[in-house]
Amino acid sequence: MIEDNYRQRGLRNNLVKKLRLKGILDEEVLAAIGKVPRHAFFDDALLSHAYEDKAFPIGEGQTISQPYTVAFQTEKLRIRPSDKVLEIGTGSGYQAAILVEMGAKVYTIEFQKKLYERTKEFLPSLGYKPYFFFGDGSKGILSKAPFDKIIVTAGAPVIPTALIEQLAEGGIMIIPVGDREKQMMLKITKRNGKITQEEFDNFAFVPLLGEQGWGGK
Ligand code: SAM
Repeated sequence: MIEDNYRQRGLRNNLVKKLRLKGILDEEVLAAIGKVPRHAFFDDALLSHAYEDKAFPIGEGQTISQPYTVAFQTEKLRIRPSDKVLEIGTGSGYQAAILVEMGAKVYTIEFQKKLYERTKEFLPSLGYKPYFFFGDGSKGILSKAPFDKIIVTAGAPVIPTALIEQLAEGGIMIIPVGDREKQMMLKITKRNGKITQEEFDNFAFVPLLGEQGWGGK
């Protein structure tokens, strides 16, 4: 069992206060961030940074997203318990844990085998059990579609058509789209088969690889 002591809970409460000041309003999102032990996702040497509002390296050249970014994307999804959610880019599993904590049924896909294996082993040990998939998430997971919500946690050059197709009627997708350095956060909503798009601030994600991303692996 991971140790979650008084000090860590205090640091987590401060992080929640910080996110509130930065404009996160959804109480369910804030409650989930207040519950998931982010320090459990860090190596011992980096533990002191676990509750800073910063992204951090998690190995394999990848990062655990900044808490503000996690909160921002999650808030825009308007998660309801039992929503079926697809996450592209499992990474450390922190974002998936937040979604599971909020009662969603989560399907998460990762393109890097080592990360997939590591997180698939680790996350259930914290009590968070999304469905783990290995592969190119830019194509979605056709066999499990449609999804009420889709969250892309890597920067895409365009909105992958496969993801639009796999979004349920009334569904919401949140996805950063732009160049390799910086992306604009887009919220896509599907109503009566039609897509509407809302644009938000710029963020900086690692690139979405794969067929409908930047290519490569
Ligand atoms: N959501 C993660 C978390 O909570 O730690 C952070 C994700 S990290 C910023 C982006 C992740 O997307 C990396 O782990 C990367 O390997 C993965 N990725 C990139 N392209 C992908 C693709 N086509 N399919 C699935 N995962 C991909």
